[in-house]
Amino acid sequence: MERADRMEQGNDRLAPIMEDDATLETLIGDLGIVVLMVATVHLTGDLDLLRRWPKPRAMRFTADSSGQFTAEQEATIRADALTAIKAYRDAGSPAPYRPTAPEILEMASFMGAAEVSDAYLGPLVEELEGAADPRAFRWSRDVGAAAKARHPVLVIGAGMSGILAAIRLQQAGIPFRVVEKNPGAGGTWHENRYPGCRVDIPSTAYSFSFMQDYQWPSLYSVQADLEAYFQACVDRYGLAPHIDYGVEAIRCDWDEERRLWSIRLRAADGGEEIAEARSVVSAVGFLNRPFVPTIPGADEFNGRAFHTARWPADLALEGKRIAVIGNAATGMQAIPELAKAASSLTIFQRTPQYLSIHPEYHRPIRTGEAWAVAHLPYFAGWMRALASNWPNDREPKHMLIDPEWPQDGLSVSAANAGARQRYVAAIEGALAGRPDLIDKVTPRYPAFTKRPCVTSGGFYEAIKQDHVTLVTEGIARFTADGIVDNDGVSHPLDIVVFATGFDVQKFVSPILFHGRGGVELHDHWGSLPGGYLGIVVPNFPNFYMMYGPGTNLGYNGNQIFNAECQVRFVTGAIGKAIEADLDAIEIRAEVTEDYLERTRAKLRQFVWSAGHSTSYFRNANGEVTTNSPWSLLQYWQWTKAPSLGDFEIWPRKTDAAHAQGADVAP
Ligand SMILES: Cc1cc2nc3c(=O)[nH]c(=O)nc-3n(C[C@H](O)[C@H](O)[C@H](O)COP(=O)(O)OP(=O)(O)OC[C@H]3O[C@@H](n4cnc5c(N)ncnc54)[C@H](O)[C@@H]3O)c2cc1C
Repeated sequence: MERADRMEQGNDRLAPIMEDDATLETLIGDLGIVVLMVATVHLTGDLDLLRRWPKPRAMRFTADSSGQFTAEQEATIRADALTAIKAYRDAGSPAPYRPTAPEILEMASFMGAAEVSDAYLGPLVEELEGAADPRAFRWSRDVGAAAKARHPVLVIGAGMSGILAAIRLQQAGIPFRVVEKNPGAGGTWHENRYPGCRVDIPSTAYSFSFMQDYQWPSLYSVQADLEAYFQACVDRYGLAPHIDYGVEAIRCDWDEERRLWSIRLRAADGGEEIAEARSVVSAVGFLNRPFVPTIPGADEFNGRAFHTARWPADLALEGKRIAVIGNAATGMQAIPELAKAASSLTIFQRTPQYLSIHPEYHRPIRTGEAWAVAHLPYFAGWMRALASNWPNDREPKHMLIDPEWPQDGLSVSAANAGARQRYVAAIEGALAGRPDLIDKVTPRYPAFTKRPCVTSGGFYEAIKQDHVTLVTEGIARFTADGIVDNDGVSHPLDIVVFATGFDVQKFVSPILFHGRGGVELHDHWGSLPGGYLGIVVPNFPNFYMMYGPGTNLGYNGNQIFNAECQVRFVTGAIGKAIEADLDAIEIRAEVTEDYLERTRAKLRQFVWSAGHSTSYFRNANGEVTTNSPWSLLQYWQWTKAPSLGDFEIWPRKTDAAHAQGADVAP
């Protein structure tokens, strides 16, 4: 079992508490009650702070920290917490109490209102440790500079994943270079500048575990704040000299003789360069290449038409006749904002969505919360744990197909039917008095077939307005003046926004990767992209993918947690190759096949595979290629320490062997 005493240092570096009693009382009034309770334990070491109260009730929405205590109970809890915080301040803000392993689990179970098993202690402690960064790269033996110098790494992409890979490689002292096709860092959060763009996981969790002290302005941050966060990571870790912006990787070839990758790079001015690296890390994103459907007559349109990820900087929306094509995650965020500015807004909906209405989706971080992140030990970590909802990290019954359940096309199990009922009730509540709209936006396929979208309710409010039209008839064609729908109705338009998502099935495209024997990665995959843990692929030595096939999270957590798991595997594998003095390692075919078979069998049990509606999760044959069916804990365990036994290995060619071109492969 992981030891809780690994919790060290990070939380000791917080600013001391200097505020007077009255200020503290006001600040504490801002804090979610359950997080306040568990964080206070670190000040006193007294678990009775939790034990004397009834267990909190389950969260009603993500990161609901109310515990649903009565007002009277809450007042007493806050008063007790205030006493503890004042005593901690008066003692000079000493090193916080480090709970034992069973105590941490008790605290996590209390906060999550459900049992958290001791298997979770490892990831939980890592997440709580914050600035101490227990996931940092560590060598298992001394490795000289020459060995590291023999293993330069090229990272493609400076989004969240590429920045993370760079930070870990830098910690390891392994030489690396990052190429990024954009002029700035942040990937998704650099490119998606449409109005309303924000994360749908609280930022306390959607952030690096080692950089939790960041002062987020909102609970669910908007694009500009996320872009600023990733730029702050680049700055804090001094990555700028390693990143070449405006440089796109076009093609990578494995040189079998020299055992390194040769990478064709193209600069924004068209100039080309061939770079070399021992290992390549693809961090090109999964949602990076916009998908725009082909619609007849598109060339004739006189207005402006563009994808949400290509939002024009000079665009004026005020008083314009705007259309949005698509109403999934992006559309849901943009529509309420566009409705505010447009003289008319026409929404072309292909498929209605299940929406999770979240009352705190647009709420700013409260003054007290910002203060607590800076001053209260472990507060940020527990906010993060609350948003990560560890008790929920188990096989989701509501998403699994029950073979005994009558498959009526609307649900796949009793639990799934129950979820649908709750979603439909929410639609009926939000659109009460508008049966026409209820009919149009009620999905007629099982819940969770697609990823449910998060909304504050703004979508439903928007479509009720007189100047907003929801068209469900489908699009026939563009004309010079707008769009004609399949009923022959013309919709005059100035602006058309494609909220049509991304080209997700062509992982790592359009880059061509030629592995051993010259085989190209996409040919190797055919219609079924995949790899061991979604990271490594047989036949492609020293090649690693972040956010690769089968790693999109389907039911819990967030992509940053996954990326931290992936990068630990990637740098762990590179580190082991260097320690073992290997030129190259390649995941074994049978290890990969075993993993993929188990994964595909599990995926077939999920509603994503049932095929009751379109979804980007599935390839042309209806097989799910994008999502992970595994829990966060499983992925954390499997990626923690790669084993060289799972890889084919190529020991280092000696200089003499190099000169003679000798084959020293096993
Ligand atoms: C609108 C939106 C909202 C999202 N919201 C959430 C959320 O709420 N929670 C969650 O967990 N996840 C969310 N995601 C998914 C995921 O967290 C983000 O996409 C995240 O940014 C992924 O990071 P990444 O670095 O892997 O990929 P990206 O952010 O896509 O970055 C990839 C980078 O690689 C660069 N690149 C690509 N090809 C090349 C090339 N050939 N040469 C050089 N550079 C290249 C790109 O320019 C880009 O900068 C969201 C995604 C989108 C699109």
